[in-house]
Amino acid sequence: MEIRGKQRCHYSDILEHLKTYFPSPISDPIMDSYFVHSVSRFLDQVDSLKSAMPLLGTVVKHNHHGASQQAAFPENISSIEEVTGLLADYCQGMTIWSHPNAQVNVYPLPTISSITAFIAAAIYNPNIITDEYSGRFTEAEIQSIAMLSDLIGYDPQQSGGLFTFGGTGTILYGCKLGIEKILGGRGMQEGIREDIKIISSDVSHYSRLNVAAWLGLGMKNLITVPSTSNNEMSLSALNDTLRVALSRGDKVAAIIATLGTTDAFGIDDLAAIVHLRDRLVVEYGLDYVPHVHADAVIGWAWAVFRDYNFEDNPLGFHARTLRSLTDSLERIDSLQMADSIGIDFHKSGYTPYISSVFLLKDRSALALLSRVPEQMPYLYQVGHYHPGIYTLECSRAGTGALAALASMRLLGKQGYRVLIGHTVEMAEMLRERLERHACIQVLNDYNYGPVTLFRVYPPGVDAEQALHRELNDPDYHSQLLAYNDYNRHIFDLIYERVMQGEGVLLSWTIAYRHANYPDAPAVAAMKSFIMSPWTDLKAIDSVVNQVMEAREQITSY
Ligand SMILES: *Cc1c(COP(=O)(O)O)cnc(C)c1O
Repeated sequence: MEIRGKQRCHYSDILEHLKTYFPSPISDPIMDSYFVHSVSRFLDQVDSLKSAMPLLGTVVKHNHHGASQQAAFPENISSIEEVTGLLADYCQGMTIWSHPNAQVNVYPLPTISSITAFIAAAIYNPNIITDEYSGRFTEAEIQSIAMLSDLIGYDPQQSGGLFTFGGTGTILYGCKLGIEKILGGRGMQEGIREDIKIISSDVSHYSRLNVAAWLGLGMKNLITVPSTSNNEMSLSALNDTLRVALSRGDKVAAIIATLGTTDAFGIDDLAAIVHLRDRLVVEYGLDYVPHVHADAVIGWAWAVFRDYNFEDNPLGFHARTLRSLTDSLERIDSLQMADSIGIDFHKSGYTPYISSVFLLKDRSALALLSRVPEQMPYLYQVGHYHPGIYTLECSRAGTGALAALASMRLLGKQGYRVLIGHTVEMAEMLRERLERHACIQVLNDYNYGPVTLFRVYPPGVDAEQALHRELNDPDYHSQLLAYNDYNRHIFDLIYERVMQGEGVLLSWTIAYRHANYPDAPAVAAMKSFIMSPWTDLKAIDSVVNQVMEAREQITSY
C-alpha cells in the first residue's frame, strides 16, 4: 500500500497498515514470521559488517555531530524494512566485545538467553513497579535477589533488593540508606540540612562523585581515603580519617568499599572495614551505624568460587590461576558482611546493559525510603509486590531482572566458574609473557583479576627502577610525563594496526594511579581487559608481539 505522497487516504486505511508494524496481539503465524524475518534481516545486515577487525564495519569518525544536531522530525511513515537497514547502519563502528581480538574493558558480551530475556521484556513491556503490570517479571526480580543472596551468603529470610539503573544506582541507594539511617527516614520529607559524609578510596569509581552531588550532599562531603600500592583502601588511613571525622562530630552516612576496582581489580578488605566501623561505633558512642556499601559491581561474580574445590581443581586451572582466584576469593568471601552490595550483570554477568542489582542484607531498611512511611514495604508478606513504594524509579523495565535470571539459570555457578576462570587464566598467561620482557612493567602486580595494566620503557632504561622513581620521586615528575607520552605513542601505533585488521585492541587509562607525593601527576597505562571466551593463547601472544613491534618502530626513528 502506498501511503506516501500527497494523495488523500482515510486514516483508518493507514491504521490498518500501521498494525503490521507491531507484533500481533493475537495468534497470527504469518505476522509472527514477518516479525522474526525482520529481526533476521537485521542480523544478516549486521553480519555483513564483520571482519578480522574487532569492529562492525569501519571506524566511525565522530566529526558529524553538527549534522546530527540538524536532524528534523520525520514527516512521513517509513517501512520496517527501511528502518531495519537504518538500525543496522547504526551498528557501524561498534566494537565487538566478544571478538578474540578485543581486550578493551569490562564490557560484557551477553548470552543468547539474556538477549532473549531483553526481547521478551521488549515485546510484552512489563513495568515492574508493581506485580499488577508485570506478570511473572516481578517474580524474576525476587528470585534473582534470592539467588544472589544465596550466592554471597546473605540470609534470604532477611535480605532483599531491587534492580536499578546501573552500578551508579546501586551506590546511590546504598548512600541514601546510610543518610536516612542517620536521619531516621526524615530526610525523605525534610531534605538534608546538614553536612553528612561519605567515605571511599581514591581508586573507587568516580560515580561516588555523582552520588554525593545528586543526593544533595555535595562533592565536598565526599572524603577520599588514599589507597595502597595494591589499589585497596589503606586501612590505617581509613582509621585516621574516621577518627578525625567522628572526633569533630561529623556524621558518616556510608563507607563505600570497592571489591574489584575498574582499572586494576583492587579489592578492599571489607571484613576489616566492617570490624573497624563496629569498633568505632562503640568507642564514639554513635547513635547510628555508618552504612557499609560494597561496590562489587565487577567482583561479585568471583563468589561462584566460594564452593569450588581448589584442592582437587576439577576444572584444571593452572597453578597461577588458582592462586589468583583464591587470593581474590579471600576478600570476595566477606561480601556477606556488607550492609548492601552493588552487582552489575552488565559488568561480569554476561548480560546486556542495564542489569544492576542493589542487594540489601536487611530488607526492612527499605522502609526508610518509603514515600509513605507508615506504609511498610510489604515485600514477600502479602500476596502483592509493590517495589514502587520505595524505588527511585517509577517506570521500571523488566529487562534487567529477567536477563540476570536468564544468565544465572543458563550458566549456573559452573558456567560462571569456567568463564571467569578462563579470563583470569588468560590474564595470567599475558602477565607471565609480559614479565619476560625487561622493558615492560606490569602495574597491578597484586591484583589478580582479568585486567592487566602495563607500561613500556625505551631501550637503555631500567624499567623496574624507572617505575619506582615515577611512583615515588618528585624530581622524576617530567620523566613520568615523558614516559606517559611514550606509552601513548605505542598505544596509538597498536590502535592503527588493529584498525587495519591486525592485532588485538587494547585500551588506555590516563590514571592507573597518582604517584605517591603531593600534587603528583597520574601514571597512565595500557590496559588489557579480558572478557571473551574466544580469547586464546594466540591472542595473548599477539598482544605481547604487537607491543614489542610498536616499541621497535618508535626506537628506529
Ligand atoms: C562501572 C562501575 C561503576 C558504575 O557502574 P555503572 O553500571 O556504569 O553505573 C561503579 N563502580 C565500579 C567499580 C565500576 O566498575
